[in-house]
Amino acid sequence: MFSCLACSRSFPLHQPIWRCPCGGRLIPGAGPRFDRTALTGRDGNLWRYREAYQLSESASPVSLGEGFTPLAPVQFGGHAIQAKLDYLCPTGSYKDRGSAVMLTQLQAWGLTEIVEDSSGNAGASVAAYAGLAGIRAHIYVPDTASAGKMAQIGLHGGHLRKIPGSREACAAAALQAAEGTFYASHNWSPHFLLGLKSAAYEIAEQRNWVAPDWVVTPAGNGGLAGGLYYGFRDLLAAGVIERMPRIAMAQAANCAPVYAAWKQGLNHVPAIEKQPTVAEGIASAQPVRGHEMLEALRGSNGVVQTVTEDEIWGAFESLAAQGLYVEPTSATAAAALGILWRAGTIGASESVVLYLTGSGLKSTETIARHFAGRF
Ligand SMILES: [Zn+2]
Repeated sequence: MFSCLACSRSFPLHQPIWRCPCGGRLIPGAGPRFDRTALTGRDGNLWRYREAYQLSESASPVSLGEGFTPLAPVQFGGHAIQAKLDYLCPTGSYKDRGSAVMLTQLQAWGLTEIVEDSSGNAGASVAAYAGLAGIRAHIYVPDTASAGKMAQIGLHGGHLRKIPGSREACAAAALQAAEGTFYASHNWSPHFLLGLKSAAYEIAEQRNWVAPDWVVTPAGNGGLAGGLYYGFRDLLAAGVIERMPRIAMAQAANCAPVYAAWKQGLNHVPAIEKQPTVAEGIASAQPVRGHEMLEALRGSNGVVQTVTEDEIWGAFESLAAQGLYVEPTSATAAAALGILWRAGTIGASESVVLYLTGSGLKSTETIARHFAGRF
């Protein structure tokens, strides 16, 4: 079942809706108990956990073999940690976890046309999987989005709709367009969130079902942080892991609504005035999944850490020096990790998984501009 966050009404999982008639957002209810024994003999991709995605029985995976990205042992900041290299997903970001599961369900519902809005990675990912599913995808992007990101969306078969103004204006335009079609939003779709739970299952399985002490991740609209938390919660409830990892969320200091809400002890995330940040993938002034992020912070005894633009670039360089070429957005998590070690929040002997979300090859223009003249 899905339930509405605003009015608590429940809906069957197999009804093609993206929000409650009251306008509220839908969140997935508890799924089946995680069954580790069912995994034997299954392929090494996220479909080995398919029962967890609560898909229609008739659904057939729309897949590029996504999932099971490396959990690499790396040295960072003088510590041995593990880095989850999710920037190696098929379209270059972790969003493929959500897109594969969401488009699988949309195809099973028989949809032929959808609307999505994104400033980058999610748009490219949804465009690619919609193309595979035979679904026409209209992707709304701010007209300031980078030429590279627009090219990827268009080349995957997405129909670009360039909207003047802010990222928020773009979302509003997509919402309006969705009145006549289906809003397949990575921020609203409960199936997209269910697909992101695979990240937690994988990390646990790659560690032989021993949860790390910490998972450190960039946090913008809350899909990944929520997916990680719900995934680990499933494993804990099934007795597959023995403790909940603490989730550390990194936000750019120039756009840190979750940090503000968490510090003030609020139970919702109000909108803030944001300043420009190179971490464009998490620059959400009012996160759609604020509820999920606060739940993940409470349920995992998590923390939020803000990082400056200089700290983001410093961490970006440190990661690149270790062979890890990620988007500046991903480097926020590495910058936050350094600060949390120095503050003693994360102990030197505690185990850490650093979640790297998007490929640096997507941000070539931004990176080259920042380092102009140096190489
Ligand atoms: Zn409702």
